[in-house]
Amino acid sequence: MAITSGPRRIVPTVDFVARGLAPVVGAPVPNLQNHGGPVIGSVEVVPIYWGAAWATGTNAVLASNIDRFFDFIVTSSYMDLLHEYSTPSTQIQHGRRLSSAHVANSEPGTVTPSGRQVTDDQIRTALQGWIANHTVPATTANTLYFIYLPPNVVSLSFGSSSCVAGGFCGYHDHIGNIYYAVIPYVNCSGCVFAGQFLDTLTEVSSHELAEAITDPELNAWWDPVTGPGDEIGDICNRQTTRLGDFVVQTEWSNTQGACVVAPAPALQVPSPSVVTDLTRFRDHIDLFVVGFDGGVNSTFWDANGGWFNRWFRIIDPNFSDLFTVPPQSVVTCLTRFQDHIDLFAVGRDSAVYSTFWDANGGWFNHWFRLLDTNFSDGFKVPQQSTVSSLSRFRDHIDLFVVGFDGGVYSTFWDANGGWFNHWFRLIDTNFGDHFTVPPKSTVSCLSRFQDHIDLFVTGRDGVVYSTFWDVSSGWFNHWFGLRDTNFPDGFTVPPGSPISCLSRFRDHIDLFVVGFDGGVYSTFWDASSGWFNHWFRLADTNFGDGFTVPPGSVVSSMSRFQDHIDLFVTGRDGGVYSTFWDANGGWFNHWFRI
Ligand SMILES: [Zn+2]
Repeated sequence: MAITSGPRRIVPTVDFVARGLAPVVGAPVPNLQNHGGPVIGSVEVVPIYWGAAWATGTNAVLASNIDRFFDFIVTSSYMDLLHEYSTPSTQIQHGRRLSSAHVANSEPGTVTPSGRQVTDDQIRTALQGWIANHTVPATTANTLYFIYLPPNVVSLSFGSSSCVAGGFCGYHDHIGNIYYAVIPYVNCSGCVFAGQFLDTLTEVSSHELAEAITDPELNAWWDPVTGPGDEIGDICNRQTTRLGDFVVQTEWSNTQGACVVAPAPALQVPSPSVVTDLTRFRDHIDLFVVGFDGGVNSTFWDANGGWFNRWFRIIDPNFSDLFTVPPQSVVTCLTRFQDHIDLFAVGRDSAVYSTFWDANGGWFNHWFRLLDTNFSDGFKVPQQSTVSSLSRFRDHIDLFVVGFDGGVYSTFWDANGGWFNHWFRLIDTNFGDHFTVPPKSTVSCLSRFQDHIDLFVTGRDGVVYSTFWDVSSGWFNHWFGLRDTNFPDGFTVPPGSPISCLSRFRDHIDLFVVGFDGGVYSTFWDASSGWFNHWFRLADTNFGDGFTVPPGSVVSSMSRFQDHIDLFVTGRDGGVYSTFWDANGGWFNHWFRI
């Protein structure tokens, strides 16, 4: 082979080892990289049948079937798959076939003892002539000429030829911005597939179609490691499948890590499912959710490029199911600093698991257990429990979860020493049971500043309880109720209700919870005056019931800046409602549907 660097651009013969199908142990997974060149957005294929042989008999039928193949494939899932290789300037979409050209008045190349041969230079000269004399449609950024050679013509290119070992079954190239592919009549042992000869031609053509679209000028998508120089088709060379009426080759998907002919199916999640989110820096959002199959899925938004438009699974090949959790579990996420994400989830075995992403190295691809050998079961909690996480500063993580016994348990990770490897209980001996809450309750945690943690949870009696840790004195060892004597019951909410907490700045905490009546209630703490000792309702007189939601609902709160709070809650009609507080004007006093 004469091509020793840069993209491969050919359909290799059968002796080629496709790395997507025959991975080398320990070698990197194939990954196409964008070298910055153009891609074809909405391809317009112009089949050109060169030579008199295409005009009659079985070859004329073959040509019309190849036309039909292009009519199909450029509007198929094959193109939807290629969409992941879109660039900021060009979205890869469906295309169309333009009128085919039948050039019966000339033959390719020159005569040899066994037939004919044609060089790439001769093909380029012929193609430029057909463009000049309007035998074929004029060139646009979407035009892709497919030149089919007649039987018994050897194609010479790259110092090699068609149908020889180490040679090729087809290739694509460009003359400046004129994109073309050459498909010889490859009924030879190194190229042919079992079945009808049409199947061989469509297989080879699909390989070059995908490569020409994703790498038309040989400076866009190719893998500098695998091969090296593999383009999208080479990684999956000769892996065939049937798509519609036609045999096609699979193509490499970076996002699926596999040879496929369609994009990944849309993620389906059970209702309700919690989507967790985090912002590592202002131009980036990461989302996490558990699918019907229990797989943990993620996607992201970036100011450069918008939404990724695909969900990918965060897997661990050490698990036979690649790691799943019970559907509707909550995956909690944490970013200690811009280049790092930590995830926490309770597995099907009730153990607490974690994994992480780092800008150096990407996803860890393993979920490890946060074990404590002091517990006979290694420490387990009810399935679908939420593990709350907190990073007081870059080098520290605190976790909180409620055990089978209703006790609130914590553990931590520190850059010096790693995981503590023990879970300890936050007890209060003033309670006969040392303080327990309903199992599966969510403990809300907050760090107003590096040296302080506040926790909030709803007790078995419906009272909202809090405790705290301070660097100077450690855990307070008491849980105190945030009561309001204006309510006959001192203010209670349904046991198990999640508390939403927010610290707009170091000296202030706001809490939000849904009451028995479905009203959204709030209270606050301020360094200057302590707890407010009253819960007030965020009502809206435009609603007959003053605005209520199902008791037990989650109120999501966020503070974009110190003087502003946004709240979000799912209403009784399934709509998402919001209200806000602003230092100028206080609470808006209305809930509006988003
Ligand atoms: Zn190729």
